[in-house]
Amino acid sequence: MKMLESANHIIQTIEEAGGEAYIVGGAVRDMLLKREPGDYDLATSFLPDEVMRLFPVVIPTGLDHGTVTVVLDHIPFEVTTFRSESTYSDRRRPDEVTLGVSLEEDLTRRDFTINAMALKPAGLVDLFGGQDDLAAKIVRTVGRAEERFDEDALRMIRAFRFMSQLEFTLDQETEQAIKHQKQHLQSVAIERVAIEFEKLLLGPGREAALAAMLRTGIQQYMPHLNETIIKQLMALRFNGVSSDDVWTLVLVAGLRPEALRAWKRSKKQEGRAKTLAPLVQKETLSDWQRYRLSDEELEHLNEMTGRRHEERTSLPIRRLQDLTVNGRDMVELGLQKKQIKEALHHLERQVVHRQLDNQREILLKEVMSWKNQHGTESSTH
Ligand code: ATP
Ligand code: MG
Repeated sequence: MKMLESANHIIQTIEEAGGEAYIVGGAVRDMLLKREPGDYDLATSFLPDEVMRLFPVVIPTGLDHGTVTVVLDHIPFEVTTFRSESTYSDRRRPDEVTLGVSLEEDLTRRDFTINAMALKPAGLVDLFGGQDDLAAKIVRTVGRAEERFDEDALRMIRAFRFMSQLEFTLDQETEQAIKHQKQHLQSVAIERVAIEFEKLLLGPGREAALAAMLRTGIQQYMPHLNETIIKQLMALRFNGVSSDDVWTLVLVAGLRPEALRAWKRSKKQEGRAKTLAPLVQKETLSDWQRYRLSDEELEHLNEMTGRRHEERTSLPIRRLQDLTVNGRDMVELGLQKKQIKEALHHLERQVVHRQLDNQREILLKEVMSWKNQHGTESSTH
């Protein structure tokens, strides 16, 4: 079954059991834009346990928020009970989620008109002019922008994210409200901001979205960003950048490497950014620079820059283990434990720099003379 058919099957099953269900949010927006949705989220009048009774494979993924995941043909569908959210005292998360409200209330809590439509085989529910805004390519909040950003400040970054992904413009009232409310972004968990910012940077409308950000000045409230960095991000050529590499570009644009910590990215993302950023501008790489990268990192660097650096297969060795000698040989030659690593790294550098051939006899001889030069100190102990 295709994904849409499966989603419709869930809707029908719920309707036959006496409930209401719709495809909601991003999937409706994408379908109306004739884009393939990444996933289909559903909203229903049924409570989680009623949904669970109707389908053979259901995972209770977020019961507190009324969400279960129905798995059909190995494809997961999030099915969430109609809900409203009240009193956002900390501007981060709703204090209270109320289940079992009407579809209208569920749609009212959503962020933008283009994200607040509901669809079922019998028709579309569009209470806030979402279709008009899609046609006019406008990102506009549901209800008064000031209030909506006051409830959840992350929505301000989401507005720029959708601008970039969809190449839409920002409604004037929405932009004004961001100017007034921008400082509240500081109280939002940085991980949530980072995820939206990554999507923004990967979108085709990045330049216009960043320009809009600058008009509001919101970058002041994003860790260690400033106008210069944003302008660089607008100017940089992005060539096939994946979500793993976004932060490399942010470093290239001028964010200090130490500042990345504040964004709480994964070890992998942070490591890759710090490794690749200094290499992005380089026309050619030395053997040692290529050696220090993984195959994957070199591939990403090529992708990002559009360059074709020589493959690592052309290096004399690709990893320490490729040396024709190993730690055991070092022990047999009488090296002390703490010298072994040092000696191997010495050989590694010599071989990668093509000063020595990776031949066992040659390397063993080199270790002996290295030991005579470096070994005296420890042998006196
Ligand atoms: P994508 O295709 O990138 O996943 P999406 O529209 O599905 O885009 P999500 O972040 O997955 O975006 O959110 C799903 C839906 O939930 C949104 O379309 C919107 O209706 C609602 N939503 C998400 N985050 C918020 C928020 N902070 N405030 C209000 N509504 C939100
Ligand atoms: Mg989504």
